[in-house]
Amino acid sequence: MAERKRSLYTLSKHELNATVFDPRIKQVFLFLGGAFIVFLGLMAYYQIVHSSFGNRYVKSAFLQRRESVPASLARGYLLDTNGVPLHYPCWHPVLVVFPSKIGDKDLFAKKIAALICVDENLIREALEDRTTPFKITLEPSLFEMERIIGSAIPGLALVPEEIRYGYGSLARHVLGYVRPNAYLNPEDNVGESGLESWYQSVLIGGIPTWAGTFVTGEGAEIPGSGIRMGSGREHSTDLLTTLDARIQLGVEQALGESEISKGAAVVLEVETGEILALASLPQYNQNHPEDSLFLPDSPFLNRAILDFAPGSIWKPLVLTLALEKGYVAPDEIFECKGQVTVGSAVVNCALSRGGHGRVTLKEALAQSCNSAFIEIGLRIPPEELVDWALKCGFGRRLSIPLAEQSEGLLPEPGPMLDGDVANYSIGQGYLTITPLQAACFFRSIVSGGNWINPTLVRGTGAEERVLFSDATAVFLQEALLLSTLEGIGKAAWVSGYGSAGKTGTAETEGESSLDHAWFVGWTPILAPKYVICVFCERSGTGPSLAAPLFRRIGEIMLLQYP
Ligand SMILES: [Zn+2]
Repeated sequence: MAERKRSLYTLSKHELNATVFDPRIKQVFLFLGGAFIVFLGLMAYYQIVHSSFGNRYVKSAFLQRRESVPASLARGYLLDTNGVPLHYPCWHPVLVVFPSKIGDKDLFAKKIAALICVDENLIREALEDRTTPFKITLEPSLFEMERIIGSAIPGLALVPEEIRYGYGSLARHVLGYVRPNAYLNPEDNVGESGLESWYQSVLIGGIPTWAGTFVTGEGAEIPGSGIRMGSGREHSTDLLTTLDARIQLGVEQALGESEISKGAAVVLEVETGEILALASLPQYNQNHPEDSLFLPDSPFLNRAILDFAPGSIWKPLVLTLALEKGYVAPDEIFECKGQVTVGSAVVNCALSRGGHGRVTLKEALAQSCNSAFIEIGLRIPPEELVDWALKCGFGRRLSIPLAEQSEGLLPEPGPMLDGDVANYSIGQGYLTITPLQAACFFRSIVSGGNWINPTLVRGTGAEERVLFSDATAVFLQEALLLSTLEGIGKAAWVSGYGSAGKTGTAETEGESSLDHAWFVGWTPILAPKYVICVFCERSGTGPSLAAPLFRRIGEIMLLQYP
């Protein structure tokens, strides 16, 4: 008996052999081997032969899945030069229904209808169609939100949703807008205008913020799983623009507070040619563009890049050519009698004062003397006038990523009637330019004759060329300073900083007899920083309307953001 208590490991080799060949032990081994073969067979049956059965268990164990609604767009932001989103995205509450968490659908529809004043049949129909979470496109009032939160109905949640264009969204005409339905249908995550459209393929992408819950593989609620938010905007690419949100805001405020209803303003940085602000009036609602479709004054138009008759802001262009090519001498004196007759046409100039009398060339520009400029223009071959405008960036699109941009109109190269040349020399007739083109040209005056294509988005190359000599540039700078010191542009003087520039009043045809008003110039006088172009469509005259608005914008920029 004592031997029987010894373990297998304590048996001697002889004893072991004797034990292995014991017939009872052999039966035990045979039984265990058979059981093992049966086990292997069952494994093969379930794993290979009856694989769907196997998968069912795998699913239940591992495929808990997320059911969610997007709470933002899978889309990058449009940033200002300091990385601030120009569209000021914000959040608002939306109602989301989670069908997996609803027990009795009829009861659910009744409860919701009582809470938010919506037909319970609509809720019932929606629940019949949908098995995944969906948003109710009804903005609940504060009162309704309190009741919804207080009632805590399973399957109904108030979740935050990002509004891409917040209340203070800036530079709306530059940014453009995304289709309003994009929050409900990802296929509508498409930019319809402005940078949103131009950079569609860059901006779209990433993982949006989501609001959701986890359910079993079969879509049933997992007890205890709540509704949660997932972090968003992963892997989205933002677009860095040159716009400065503070300056853009100041310009938009100045335009909004002015008496004009239609117009535009552009601010360029003198040193770099970067666009710091580009604003257009009237504004429109980016979240609901459909509301602005039939409003008067076409709010969708980006007037800063559309073309209009320039009036006298065109005179500096004629003068730079005349000086460069020697069609006029810097010390020349002109005699203005208040009227010029060209062919059968009579053009007036300062008629109420009987003309400007004897004026120097600088005074002719500072006083915006039509007589002197018609005389100068008629000395220049017409094809040279048109060629020069093309070289200076007019009559063609500037290289900026906005499809809405106009080319502007220039006369066909070739012979022109004297009357047409006279009109062209003072910015009238068959001639239109955009406020952005005007700002670029005036920037070349303050930059020693060096023209640079404006930049709107960082990383896009800037084309540069020398238009005219430094001597011509300095002559123009002095004449345009004379304009704001004691000439026709006095209302544009920025107190404490000074300014220089040119007024323009362009006659218009058609629905209204009011003229286009312009002022283009720079500020401050010492170490100029900003070129500003102000355009007021069919609103009045340059000296009375656009010049004071230029001053206001200059004050905002230099006093608030020196
Ligand atoms: Zn005159």
